[in-house]
Amino acid sequence: MRIINGIKTILSLLRDLRAMSPDDKVDFNKSKVEYYQGIVELSLVVACLVSICFIYSDYMINGSVFPTLIPRLSVLFFIAVFFIVTHFNSSTRTMIVMDYFLGHGMCIAASWTAYNLLDNSNSITGIVIVNILWLMIGFVSTTKDTVINGIVFIIEIFITNLFNHYTNYEQILALEIPCILGIMFVNYVMSAFYFDHYTVNKKLERAMVTDPLTQVYNRHLLEQIISDDMIKNISPDECISVAMLDIDDFKKINDENGHYTGDLVLMYMGGKLVKEIHEDDYVIRYGGEEFVIILRNCKLEDACARMEQLRKDIENAKDSPISFTVSIGVSSYAGDYSKTLQDVDEALYKAKNTGKNKVVTV
Ligand code: GH3
Ligand code: MG
Ligand code: MG
Repeated sequence: MRIINGIKTILSLLRDLRAMSPDDKVDFNKSKVEYYQGIVELSLVVACLVSICFIYSDYMINGSVFPTLIPRLSVLFFIAVFFIVTHFNSSTRTMIVMDYFLGHGMCIAASWTAYNLLDNSNSITGIVIVNILWLMIGFVSTTKDTVINGIVFIIEIFITNLFNHYTNYEQILALEIPCILGIMFVNYVMSAFYFDHYTVNKKLERAMVTDPLTQVYNRHLLEQIISDDMIKNISPDECISVAMLDIDDFKKINDENGHYTGDLVLMYMGGKLVKEIHEDDYVIRYGGEEFVIILRNCKLEDACARMEQLRKDIENAKDSPISFTVSIGVSSYAGDYSKTLQDVDEALYKAKNTGKNKVVTV
């Protein structure tokens, strides 16, 4: 029963994984590398260093350490190349390629060693052990990478056999092919399990910056923007305007119609703002009935015109839970979000003190 439930869970995760858009898949693969690369890298380097210790078993076969000393130490060259390349280029793709580079580097060193051994019948054990490395790299790589690596490894065995003449060549292939298929399957299933972790994380990240009532962003995101003093994916010369909107006499709305209607007004306001803004803009619930709107690629005059239109639409709305009005302060961003927020707050204060239901700019 447990195994059936396990299979059902895996199948449903795999279905969701396959249904991801190409952009989401790129983000998923990147996240997998960020999460696992450290441990994969450590395992590979430790495996390479441990392989140098096999010099003792070489000594037991050859009666001397010299024939296999340089082949065994050659893994240090592959480790050095790995660290140099990943130091200068740490993109997701480079990391995966370099992980496989190090794994195959170890295989090359082992094949070179086998060439210098009087008896290479132990190679079969070494080749099967290498599968642990492929399994490990599968934590960061894609299923396609695992398939390509499996084919490359079989070709590598074929080529090295041309000069090593493995005593157990047929057995090596007979063991290696099912091993590769098993690794492909396990890596595919591991991706599905990481997908579970990934989606939960995404939901948490989203919940951290979302206001549960209005479903717009909450203050956490604004604080992030203020502390970084920047918005993600923005060009330095982009023109940004900021508006602060406050519902007029909201306390009265609550007092006269009840808190539930007040909540409906807030939800309506959030929905209306999301509908009115452009895709890249931000709507943030700043406080009880106050919203901050960050308008990207928008000059101050255009921001004022858009906010004036919004104010009029709300005043004349037929679909709102009850009739209400808003006051809005607008300012342009000039390199400091804290200062811009003070400016829009001041503008809003002016709008409130000069009769409400208006847009004021500073
Ligand atoms: P002004 O026109 O000057 O903005 O006056 P106001 O009554 O809108 O502003 P005030 O700051 O006096 O009152 C805001 C009210 O918003 C008080 C608070 O109870 C209410 N409020 C804050 N958060 C929520 C919420 O989540 N739901 C509801 N229903 N009310 C809320
Ligand atoms: Mg108010
Ligand atoms: Mg207020």
